[in-house]
Amino acid sequence: MTPSEIRERIENAKVKANRINDKIIFTAVSKNHSVDEMKPFEKFVDAFGENRVQEAMNKKNIYGACKIQWRLIGHLQHNKINKALEIFDTIDSVDSVKLAEKLNEHSAALNRITPVLIEVNTSGEEAKTGIDPKNLNELLDCMAGLKNLRLDGMMTVGPLTDDEIKIRNSFAQLRTLNENARERTGLELPILSMGMSGDFELAILEGSTMVRIGTLLFGARDYSKQFIHD
Ligand SMILES: *Cc1c(COP(=O)(O)O)cnc(C)c1O
Repeated sequence: MTPSEIRERIENAKVKANRINDKIIFTAVSKNHSVDEMKPFEKFVDAFGENRVQEAMNKKNIYGACKIQWRLIGHLQHNKINKALEIFDTIDSVDSVKLAEKLNEHSAALNRITPVLIEVNTSGEEAKTGIDPKNLNELLDCMAGLKNLRLDGMMTVGPLTDDEIKIRNSFAQLRTLNENARERTGLELPILSMGMSGDFELAILEGSTMVRIGTLLFGARDYSKQFIHD
């Protein structure tokens, strides 16, 4: 599907959700796709989302100068923080106190303020990354003291199911957690990153302000491709 066809579906979902004046950020999830596949979309999407630091680094080296944002949406290992900060404009997968503290430390050393999202596990699925909602307040309180991180909101991955009610519940939970976090921190927290190729319209109904779309835009991922390996 072309970026404009996807934008049209986003617009239709906004109408259905009574949210026509809201802006929805379109992150193109480019993991497992080559720079040649990515470049044609640069002008038509708001950001690229990548899961792996090394893959993104390889691609950014060949991509050359570009204005578009690169967002890390996959789990970040502590030993890759410095590399990640070189490549990515934002880290959307902060999921522990320890990671937040380390990211803050490295950001301070680089004299920068790094925009981040907290990734929350709203599906209860063990295979999913993200912080357990019951540990969220501890992370928020810790981050209040981390001056080199700027918390912009939250991200979640919906449950792997066809059950629309379960999917919507998971997104509604993230919206509620973000609202509670606003009250607790006094921050604006404008970004609710939820919704992928299969469920972004449901996410928009539940208040998403950022969708992350891979398959619908690029086609199926080919995991045998070379550049994915660290
Ligand atoms: C791969 C991935 C996506 C994109 O998924 P599609 O179903 O291909 O749109 C979005 N978010 C995260 C965190 C991902 O890992």
